[in-house]
Order: sequence, then C-alpha cells, then structure tokens
Amino acid sequence: MVNILLLRFNTLKIRRNAVPPFNLDFFLYIFKKNKIQCILKDMFLKDINNLILSDFTHIIIESYSYNIKELYKFINNIDFKKQILLSTGNYKPDHYIFKYHISAFDEKSLKKIFNIKKHINYFKNFTPKISHSSNYSFLYPMPFLKKATWKYTISGIGCPGKCKFCSGNIRKGPRAPIKNRNIKTIIYELKALKEKGFNYIVFDDDNFFRDKEFAIDLINNIINNELNIKWNTHARADSLDEELIILLKKSGCCFLRIGAESGSQKILTQSGKGKNYLQNIFKTAKLLKKHKIPFIFLTMLGFPDETIKDLWKTFFMIVKTRPFLIQLHNFVPYEDSYYGKKLGINHNLFHYSSFKKTFSKYPWWVRDFCHILFYLLFGFIKFLNLDFLKIIFFYFNNINHFKRLLFGNRE
Ligand code: SF4
Repeated sequence: MVNILLLRFNTLKIRRNAVPPFNLDFFLYIFKKNKIQCILKDMFLKDINNLILSDFTHIIIESYSYNIKELYKFINNIDFKKQILLSTGNYKPDHYIFKYHISAFDEKSLKKIFNIKKHINYFKNFTPKISHSSNYSFLYPMPFLKKATWKYTISGIGCPGKCKFCSGNIRKGPRAPIKNRNIKTIIYELKALKEKGFNYIVFDDDNFFRDKEFAIDLINNIINNELNIKWNTHARADSLDEELIILLKKSGCCFLRIGAESGSQKILTQSGKGKNYLQNIFKTAKLLKKHKIPFIFLTMLGFPDETIKDLWKTFFMIVKTRPFLIQLHNFVPYEDSYYGKKLGINHNLFHYSSFKKTFSKYPWWVRDFCHILFYLLFGFIKFLNLDFLKIIFFYFNNINHFKRLLFGNRE
C-alpha cells in the first residue's frame, strides 16, 4: 500500500526561492482527497534523524537548500529497493537518487505519477493548513515575529507578466496559465483564521492582481463579509488604479509589496516590465500616498547592461516616490528565468548573498557599495522626516515582540 511522506526539509541557509510555502500542503490536499495515506512533516536538519522512514513507500522532499551533503545524512536511511525518493519545488536537484521531480504546484505530474483522477482541478478548492506553523517564520527573515498573529495564505498562482528575471515556473511552467482558488473557500479560510486569532493576513501570491476581475471579486467578498482583517500582498505598479486602491483600503489592505525593480525606463523595457512602467510607478505611488496605503518598493541593482547612471536613477525614483520601505536586491536571476538561462546561472547561488559577478556595465563592488549606500541614504531621509517612528510602530507594535527583541527571548 502506498504511504507517502511529504517532507519540508528546512535549513537556515536558503537558496533563492520562488515558491510560496504551500506546495506540499497542496500535494497533501490532493492525496487526502484521493484517500492516499500520507503525512506532512516540517523539519530542520538537526531533527531529521529522529524520523522513522521504514513505513513510507514514497518520500517527497521539498528543500530550500538542496545541499546534497546535508541531505546525505538523511538519505543514508532510505532503502532504495523498497522506497522511492522524489523531489519537489522550483528546481530539480541534479542528483540520480531522485526518481522523479515534481515542480511546485505541478498538479498534472503528481496525478500522473500517483495515478490520481485527472478531471478534477484540485487547486480551485485547495485550502492551506489553517493551524499556525511556527517553522514558516524561518522561511521569512524575521524570527522575532514568530508569535505574531499574522498568517500566510494564497489566493492563486501564476502571473501573465513577462519579466525576464522571473522564474519560468511562474511564467510558463506548471503555474501557467494562472489558477485561482474558489472565493468561497478563501473566505471560509479567512474566517477560520480570524477565529483562531490571526488578524493579519499575507496573500503570498505571485501577483495578487494576475486576474483583475477575480481580485476585485475577492476584495468585495472580504468587504461584504465584514471580515475586518488587515492584509497585504504583492502587486505590479501597473495593475492599480484609483478605484481599485479605494476598494483595497476599504477591505483592510494595509500594505503593498510592489515590484518597482528599477528607476530607469531603459532597464524596465529591457527586462520585460513594459514600456510605460516607470510612469506607472510614479502614478501608483502618488495614489497610494493619497489613500494612505503604505508600500514597499522591491528593486534590483545590477541588471544586465545597467550603467551607474541607471543605478542612480533607481535611487532618485525612490527619493521621489517616498515608499514606506525599500527592499534592494542584487540581480541574481532564477536559474529557470529568461535571464538565468541566457546568463548561465547555476544551482548553487544563494538568494541575496553577495554575488561577486556582474552583468552590468560597472564592477560588482560598485553594486554592493550602492546597495549599502542607498539603504543608508534611505534611512537618513526617513530619520529626517521622522518616518522611522512609523516603521518602528509598524513592525513592533506588539509589546511581546518588543520584549523578545530587547531581552533576546526569541522562542
Ligand atoms: S510581475 Fe512579478 S510574478 Fe509576474 S512575471 Fe513579473 S516578476 Fe514574475
């Protein structure tokens, strides 16, 4: 009889990850619906040796590291004559021990391998686990928020965008074409989360506005059901207009993560963001300010062919639009992206880590220097206009967070 172990294998040092942490929950949902015996474990390497593996016929590993050396300790306990090892996630680990690789959210391959009913669209009615899993906080870089009352969920996957730095998995892999969950199921989930005390919801969609009609319908449902939650999500700068921003505000949207990427229209055009993207960045920033929705601009430094002038244009765009926060990334494209393939990005790069290579028209250390300098200048501007007080309040408005931060108890 088939008995599957879904193992989320966590390590503190992670690779660049383009997958929201629900892929294994989704697989679990499909197996349960088909009455296939399975269990999901969320573990760190140090705990993995306590796992008894002999009962499982299949082991599906999702790892954000794929450090094969670390995995070996675990793999030694597998009897390959009786057990099948599969990998999942964004990338296929280059190793013979994995019999199959199922890309994140690849419902089709999962059905084929496990001989599951093919005509049902499982994603539509899928609901991520409602209970809180504290381990998720390690996948996001703020361990001190471990006991915060926020919770991640997802309303759908995929994006119609054509950004050349974006994972191929989103643009043309199993997450394309886009898929939406059923709105009734999402509302049921939000109500259940609220009852459990989660009052801050993060929609970890690739792009919440991938299907505008669906997004508006969902927002209206959040309003009409008087959920009274706060929530945030990802958006493109060209997907918001004033009417939608008013609706967002009314529904409790209190923060937006916007892929601004660059302040140079040349770079934005080259990277597939669109010919008027810069104009949209300015327009959207103005509207969000008007309606008092704070936003973070996600930007990248070190695009291919970027000049120092382009680099500074990014900083001036930040100064002009005055986002609540900024997140600067070094340009390290996903290996399955258009740029990743073109530039020969390999498996062993870590997300955000210093990457002593550049594709721009200036040396890597200029990018790294500007990375620090822009953060410092941004912080200085925030300090001058006292905006930093708002930032402190935004993150640390819970006395328990403060205590943990001050006294070092991060349990
Ligand atoms: S808008 Fe975001 S999710 Fe969509 S293709 Fe571009 S980077 Fe990817």
